[in-house]
Amino acid sequence: MLPDKFWRNSIVERPKDNKTELVCHGSAWDMYDGNDFRIKMCTEVTYDDLVIVHHEMGHVYYYIQYKDQPVVFREGANPGFHEAIGDTIALSVSSLPHACGLGLLENSEYEEKMDINYLYMIALQKVAFLPFAYCVDKWRWTIFTDEVTPDTYNSLWWKFRAEIQGIEPPTNREKTDFDPGSKYHVAANVPYIRYFVSFIIQFQFYEAVCLIAGQYDPNDDKRPLHRCDIYDSKEAGIAMRQMMQLGSSVPWPEAMERLTGHREMKTGGLMSYFRPLYIWLKDENKRSKEPVGF
Ligand SMILES: [Zn+2]
Repeated sequence: MLPDKFWRNSIVERPKDNKTELVCHGSAWDMYDGNDFRIKMCTEVTYDDLVIVHHEMGHVYYYIQYKDQPVVFREGANPGFHEAIGDTIALSVSSLPHACGLGLLENSEYEEKMDINYLYMIALQKVAFLPFAYCVDKWRWTIFTDEVTPDTYNSLWWKFRAEIQGIEPPTNREKTDFDPGSKYHVAANVPYIRYFVSFIIQFQFYEAVCLIAGQYDPNDDKRPLHRCDIYDSKEAGIAMRQMMQLGSSVPWPEAMERLTGHREMKTGGLMSYFRPLYIWLKDENKRSKEPVGF
């Protein structure tokens, strides 16, 4: 249950007065008094914002669950955990069976084309993101070493973009350009590796709660991970709550173990989730003779 103050103090829409200046990039806030938690975003009715509002609310529910910890422990088990909670829920909310339950889809029977299209869309968001997230902080950490001078900041950015992501700028870049500054988290000095961690462990969390909810069976092709919807599962909710209540009072591997049974960060959940797409892509690339990795 959200405290009244949440609804009173949060900003969920762009102010209509045309006067208020606002950084619209979504954010969530813990005011540390035990009942004042807020989000600030300029929500529009789009699929992207549906995912983002779940992301921000994930932060708020984490704040609420650890509010009784001493102030020093009112943090995520590590920053990646905080970023992963809302995204874990969003994976369930955007699943085809859940969309069907909401009436957004007429039927959600397994159909290869539909499921592969769905997984392809999610992979463009989640898998393509991983080398980008790594690139952002590898660049920032290199800048912090003083091994490079400001006149090479931008060329170093594109060096990493080519090496790590395999992409090039669409136009010529100059020494005076500063492309990484167009990324909010660079300009706002928000560390970024937490998102890399989150995009791995959110699948680890999702796999764990889907098993707990009885919504996923690794030995049954008819119950694949990407079709898991944990809506209404009390057991899944309790498992997430127990992990979140720890805040940062224990080392993160203990919080990980509480929810997933493992102490390490693992890619198995991500691999299981995308397995149907992985198999399809391997076959498709072989058939189409597309050059891979250029
Ligand atoms: Zn966040």
